[in-house]
Amino acid sequence: MKCPTCHNMMIVVEHEHVELDYCPDCEGVWFDAGELELLLETMQLQQSILSIDSVLTSQETKSKEKKRKCPICHSKMKKATVGHDPEVLIDACSRGDGLWFDAGEVGQIITQVPSTQDVDSQGRVIRFLGEVFQARD
Ligand SMILES: [Zn+2]
Ligand SMILES: [Zn+2]
Repeated sequence: MKCPTCHNMMIVVEHEHVELDYCPDCEGVWFDAGELELLLETMQLQQSILSIDSVLTSQETKSKEKKRKCPICHSKMKKATVGHDPEVLIDACSRGDGLWFDAGEVGQIITQVPSTQDVDSQGRVIRFLGEVFQARD
């Protein structure tokens, strides 16, 4: 699969049964819709903020950022804002294929997602991402 930002080939990274596509050049991350849900579920985080349905039904965010094409169906993706502090601008495939995060955005948003259990889910997510990105070589 090609990176929607810089068009280089992305690499598939698998960790704890969650697969994501990672671009080693721009450090962006693509999640297939089901994979992101799996990640949130594995980490015991609420799925509401980042469910593809809620992203796709939210209003399109006006942005100067260039529109990107979905790496799966190649149609233009929708710009959507998720989170509040900080707001993170992500790209979502309007057919529901998945979500694209620029470098560092996954970390920014995932720390805002409330956990479903009273455990240190966010710490686990941060460790997970650290391990994923170490594993890339
Ligand atoms: Zn890239
Ligand atoms: Zn698509």
